[in-house]
Amino acid sequence: MTAIITGASQGIGECIAKRLAKDGYNVAINCYPSDGDKEKAEKVAEECRAMGVEAEVFAADVSRYDQCEAMVKAIKERFGVIDALVNNAGITKDGLLARMSEEQYDAVIAVNQKSIFNMMKPVCSIMMKQKHGAIVNMASVAGLYGNPGQFNYSASKAAIIGMTMSAAKEFGARNIRVNAVAPGLIKTPMTDALTDEQKDKIFGQIALKRFGEVSEIASTVSFLLSEEASYITGQTIEISGGLAM
Ligand code: NAP
Repeated sequence: MTAIITGASQGIGECIAKRLAKDGYNVAINCYPSDGDKEKAEKVAEECRAMGVEAEVFAADVSRYDQCEAMVKAIKERFGVIDALVNNAGITKDGLLARMSEEQYDAVIAVNQKSIFNMMKPVCSIMMKQKHGAIVNMASVAGLYGNPGQFNYSASKAAIIGMTMSAAKEFGARNIRVNAVAPGLIKTPMTDALTDEQKDKIFGQIALKRFGEVSEIASTVSFLLSEEASYITGQTIEISGGLAM
């Protein structure tokens, strides 16, 4: 079994890559083509190989179709098969709409939204020939409910939910499942920096009264890619501790 994880040099993507390696997948670890990212991604690959699977780093800017197409071709040549794809890479360039620049808007749409097209087109063409495959796209609660200061990010994440449903309908007959996850507030250095007072205010809106862990995103992704989820497609699973109900 082979899985591709985009933006896997750190954060949620890193955790998903390690979880899928633990599940027994050979992992193709995508990172942005900079020296720093490649170095971090190599460390993730090493940790995956220590779990007894094959792991290799493939650098490509997911906002560029030509780079994605070439990367997918290289991954197919290296591993022979592509069973799973996790479209995780994403960025924020927050700001209130009144002050948001066109560059801020376009950059977030290119990385978060167009990357889904850039990756799914070449990968689905391979999965259609294989007559099997599973894909998980990384949405966000911002795409479900909106978020002030994240007009661009919310647009990109809402689009991912629509793309997930369209692709699920297009590829279902070929035994390819396409789902999305929509994380809420996840424990990262950014959330660690909040004061207790700020945290209490946020926890007031979360039923479970805590932030999520990256491992809790990875476990849901692992489930959705697995045969345990064989009758689930076109769905967006919210992982937010009960943020909005
Ligand atoms: P992160 O730590 O910033 O990781 C994102 C990864 O994507 C980084 O490795 C980043 O590389 C990579 N990336 C960015 N642009 C790229 C490009 N053009 N090509 C290839 N790789 C690129 O963020 P995270 O918190 O783990 O988030 C992962 C995903 O979850 C994102 O889609 C995000 O929107 C989503 N999400 C996160 C949260 C949360 O609370 N953290 C909540 C909801 C949804 P660089 O380091 O070079 O930028």
